[in-house]
Amino acid sequence: MALDMNFFEEMEARIPKGKVRTRFAPSPTGYMHVGNLRTALYTWLIARHAGGTFILRIEDTDQGRLVEGAVDVIYKTMAECGLDHDEGPDVGGPVGPYIQTERRGLYGKYAQLLVEKGAAYYCFCEKSESEEDSGDFNREDDPCRSLSAEEVAANLAAGKPYVIRQRIPHEGTTTFHDVSFGDITVENTTLDDQVLIKRDGLPTYNFANVVDDHLMGITHVVRGSEYLSSAPKYNLLYQAFGWEIPTYVHCSPVMRDQHNKMSKRHGDPSYEDLIAKGYLTNAVLNYVALLGWSPKGELAEKEFFTLSELVDAFDIAGISKSPAIFDIAKLDYFNANYLRAMEPEAFAKVAEPYIRESVKNPAIDAAAVAALLQARCEKLTEIPEKVDFFDTLPDYDVSFFTNKKSKTNSEVALDMLKAVTPMLELLPEWTAESIHGSLIGLAEGLGVKNATLMWPVRIAVAGKLVTPGGAVELCHILGRDETLRRLHLGIEKLQG
Ligand code: GLU
Repeated sequence: MALDMNFFEEMEARIPKGKVRTRFAPSPTGYMHVGNLRTALYTWLIARHAGGTFILRIEDTDQGRLVEGAVDVIYKTMAECGLDHDEGPDVGGPVGPYIQTERRGLYGKYAQLLVEKGAAYYCFCEKSESEEDSGDFNREDDPCRSLSAEEVAANLAAGKPYVIRQRIPHEGTTTFHDVSFGDITVENTTLDDQVLIKRDGLPTYNFANVVDDHLMGITHVVRGSEYLSSAPKYNLLYQAFGWEIPTYVHCSPVMRDQHNKMSKRHGDPSYEDLIAKGYLTNAVLNYVALLGWSPKGELAEKEFFTLSELVDAFDIAGISKSPAIFDIAKLDYFNANYLRAMEPEAFAKVAEPYIRESVKNPAIDAAAVAALLQARCEKLTEIPEKVDFFDTLPDYDVSFFTNKKSKTNSEVALDMLKAVTPMLELLPEWTAESIHGSLIGLAEGLGVKNATLMWPVRIAVAGKLVTPGGAVELCHILGRDETLRRLHLGIEKLQG
């Protein structure tokens, strides 16, 4: 079974050199974890900051976990977030294919190369998956570790199923370096002869990541700290191949609280869930960027970053090794700021679907409603409940007309509404200015505070204590007929 060395040389020759190259390598699970989004963002930022190349690779070798349509979720999320890739399954590139199952032919060849180098071996033992996963077996006793080449050949010829395992040295230590965690040294006796090629012929993640990162010329590997414990084994693989080890950046988990990682299974939101809950993509990205990274120097206090400001500011040294806690209240704060900073037209556009969830009446101008909401909401999902009264006047309590600060009670309110109604009926034009002018003028004429007049009007037209916008704005948006109808209803209510 002689190996074709030309093949390996050709593969080496394809590897782009001289520039920073990073990759986001998600497994298609059907949703984007907050932690994964952060990895994607950091990886993209490292590439963009350095004027390098950003690659999307799909890691789908775990056939048991495949989810239909999951790759599309990845494309959609990346595009929505503005994390564009220079190479990937859809755009191609010099070191494709970029989907691991389409690279399946490669891994076996590299595993054989390792066997030839003495750094891996064929194993014909039957082991349960749980034994494999935990690495919990006595490798000293693994008889396959010392099979002769002839025995291996005979077993292969007999069609015996096999896996290929990494041959970890029994002595010595292995050290690897991580940007945040520094140098970590482990005794080789603590490392297991992990499976590189599974019985189905597909590689494990543990093997594929090394082969692919090398063949794709990846210079910086950013991933979750759950891979830290495997990093020494990856280094042994790089060393056995004689390949350069990339810069490792392991990120600590995003936590729900002091003790628990965020987890979709335990009800924590994914990126898609956050969007569905009314958060803006830019606000989520900004917040996620700061979960485990902090700017330095004169930017140290800065909180709000556009994506391009992040590209300028981002620096691997700012990544922290302590776990970050995902604080939804902090995200609310970011989101509210992003909503307020939007151009009014842009806000109206994102708000309209939420307004229309409760305001079906086409005569109500959604853009005018949006203008009331922009400074008054933290998330888009709060909108329907805030503006439902535009469609249907709620059955409110007469006590709403009483407000100490505005110096109004049921009696005062009745007087006010009775004075307002005929005046609004006769108003020559129905604009916010003319409504405002006439109400102010009336208050003056009656010798009452503006609030004493405005409060009952607002309660009568909205039927709610808290409304986005004041009496004038609400009357204007509701239109003259509906305003008068509601004012009359208010009078009826007050008259008992
Ligand atoms: N496919 C792995 C995951 O989704 C990627 C880990 C890595 O980036 O190396 O966790």
